[in-house]
Amino acid sequence: MLITGFSTHLSVMRKEDPTWKFALGASPVIEGVILRLTTTDGIVGFGYASAVPHMGSIAAQLDAELKHLEPAVTGRDAGDIESIMDSLDRRLRGAPQAKAAIDCALHDIVARSIGAPLHRLFGGRFRTSVPILRIMAIKTPDEMAVQAQKLVDEGYNYLKIKIEGDVSNDVERVRAIRTQVGDSVHLTIDANQSYSAKGAIAALNKMAAFNIDLAEQPVHASDLEGLSLVTRSVPITIEADEAAGSLEEVYRLVTTRACDAISLKIPKLGGLRNAMTAARLCEQAGVAYRFGAAVGTRLMAAQALHLACALRGVDYACELAEFARLLDDEFSGLEVENGCLSLPETIGSGTIWNGSA
Ligand SMILES: [Mg+2]
Repeated sequence: MLITGFSTHLSVMRKEDPTWKFALGASPVIEGVILRLTTTDGIVGFGYASAVPHMGSIAAQLDAELKHLEPAVTGRDAGDIESIMDSLDRRLRGAPQAKAAIDCALHDIVARSIGAPLHRLFGGRFRTSVPILRIMAIKTPDEMAVQAQKLVDEGYNYLKIKIEGDVSNDVERVRAIRTQVGDSVHLTIDANQSYSAKGAIAALNKMAAFNIDLAEQPVHASDLEGLSLVTRSVPITIEADEAAGSLEEVYRLVTTRACDAISLKIPKLGGLRNAMTAARLCEQAGVAYRFGAAVGTRLMAAQALHLACALRGVDYACELAEFARLLDDEFSGLEVENGCLSLPETIGSGTIWNGSA
């Protein structure tokens, strides 16, 4: 099972709504790099390097990083994942998105080589489906209420409200959406680092009246003291996302208990193995975790879904279906039904590549 082929190509997916924006930016497309590894036995494994500037690398960098990492992958046995990942860390510091693509492609190959679905490599099924949380872009409160109702009508019971660091406008967004969708829908918010600690405390204490389950990354990623202060000052579960950008950062967050929960993402953590380790760190520290959005192809969502279904600690809706608002996906075979994603039981990730070799 020696790796002989290592090829990459750019993936550009259009957003259905080209005006989609959040506190860290706006772009009409989602970019990434698709990695295709081939073995001597003819097995093909796929991974996706997600081009997200706030995770570190844009698409052009990802391609360069993957080319630099290629010699540490080709000629190796695809089953030696731990050793290959160690070689990658020695060859290039950081670069979690590129390393995640390699880690995912290696797992894909191993699962295919034994004719099993991916989750068998993580300990098998703890659950067979995951409720999905859908994310709403920053717009006016009325526009967001319309968007919320549309998602509820499609069957979603968990929604995330993107906010931008303005207490009165943000509270109005939450009020408008809660009024529109009623009490039974679960609401979370994500400030994407846009508040000061005191501003976040003021906003969240007002939003608490509208029954918010969870508030994501209220303050800057580097402001752990601020995050800790918010966690201790509001009645809402505080989740770290951008602050949890590596295994080291997850370790620091859980040992200082600066947050109540952590959003795990395969690209920022450098792959499935690291995400599983991060989950175990959280479990030991009594910190909640779930899988957050890494926006892009169905391939990456499916690979995260297999891990999410294997881990006992995933106890809240995951953000694994943002592909539903994107066009031009090269992978098919994964769709949301009744607000949930079901675990594929076919070989590998369960998605099908529709590109040409
Ligand atoms: Mg977030």
